[in-house]
Amino acid sequence: MQSVPRSAEIPLLSVVLPAFNEAKNLAWLLPELSLRLAPLAAHLELVVVDDGSRDDTVPQVRQLIAQGLPVRLLQLSRNFGKEAALTAGLDAAQGQVVVSMDSDGQHPIATVVEMVTLWRQGFDVVYGVQVGRRASQSWARRTYTRLFYWLMQKGSRFQMPADAGDFRLLDRQVVLALRQLPERARYMKGLFAWVGFKAKAIEFVPEERAYGETHFKFTRLLSLAVTGITAFSKVPLRLVSALGMLVSVLSVIFGLWIVCEKLLWGNSVSGFATLAASITFLAGVQLLCLGIIAEYLGRVFDEVKRRPLYVTQDLTPPFEQARLAQSLPQADKPTRDAELSEL
Ligand code: UDP
Ligand code: MG
Repeated sequence: MQSVPRSAEIPLLSVVLPAFNEAKNLAWLLPELSLRLAPLAAHLELVVVDDGSRDDTVPQVRQLIAQGLPVRLLQLSRNFGKEAALTAGLDAAQGQVVVSMDSDGQHPIATVVEMVTLWRQGFDVVYGVQVGRRASQSWARRTYTRLFYWLMQKGSRFQMPADAGDFRLLDRQVVLALRQLPERARYMKGLFAWVGFKAKAIEFVPEERAYGETHFKFTRLLSLAVTGITAFSKVPLRLVSALGMLVSVLSVIFGLWIVCEKLLWGNSVSGFATLAASITFLAGVQLLCLGIIAEYLGRVFDEVKRRPLYVTQDLTPPFEQARLAQSLPQADKPTRDAELSEL
């Protein structure tokens, strides 16, 4: 796809901020964002998705709205997780350009400004890559990460950049393409890569979290990794088949060896230790393979239920359709949406 530099002013810039117990961070981040990003576009909307927060996130955001900040609050009915909250925000965002960033202030605002510059140069996706992320991780973590990306990318037709996260700028046509993906188990990083388009990486140094602590502990990352693998890769299933074949071949060789042993040396009773070890080993291998298959089955189970990804409780302020309609891209750029409907 040929991209050309974009010179026209952005009618509406949306920033999507999933937030779970981030009252203190949003209190300074939203005014800061509104101050520094407003000059980039004709209109700005900061879409805060409250992911069932148990602190003062909602009253805090409402107070900022009352003060006149260009904020829209999308309240989910409970905690659905960051991936669902981000999806909800992307569904609600109406801008020609949509930026997704964390609401804890770890994603620098200066990088958002650079992202917009790259969008103007013609890139449809600009994704943030953390500088020095690998170096700060332990050897074990780096090994898991490498194995994860190997499993994810083996034989795949699209490239998933290894150190990229959810800090991104997306052109409207990318957002519309993402909305067409119906799957329940969201592995956003994979979905962003799957839709394609002209992408560019941008490096950033994450800030320290101002308040609170990370929600992504090791077990949660592990479960996200399993979601990613089962959603994007069939390699584990193929490994199960390969392992089955290997064990079958080895058992035939072992069988022949026992027959030869009996014929040549008359030794028919093999050791108990060999027998016990091979039975327990094979039982382990079988359970492991069943577990792998069960992960995929569980994913099919989730998909066939076709439950919505998130439930919205409230959306404030009400859509300002009249004002936004003037700035929405359909009005002045009919070709882009027409192009997309043919996708
Ligand atoms: N978050 C969310 N729902 C959750 C957990 C986290 O919306 O269930 C949000 C959180 O408020 C933050 C972003 O996702 O804006 C990233 O979370 P966090 O800072 O805990 O992750 P880290 O930066 O450590 O990867
Ligand atoms: Mg964070």
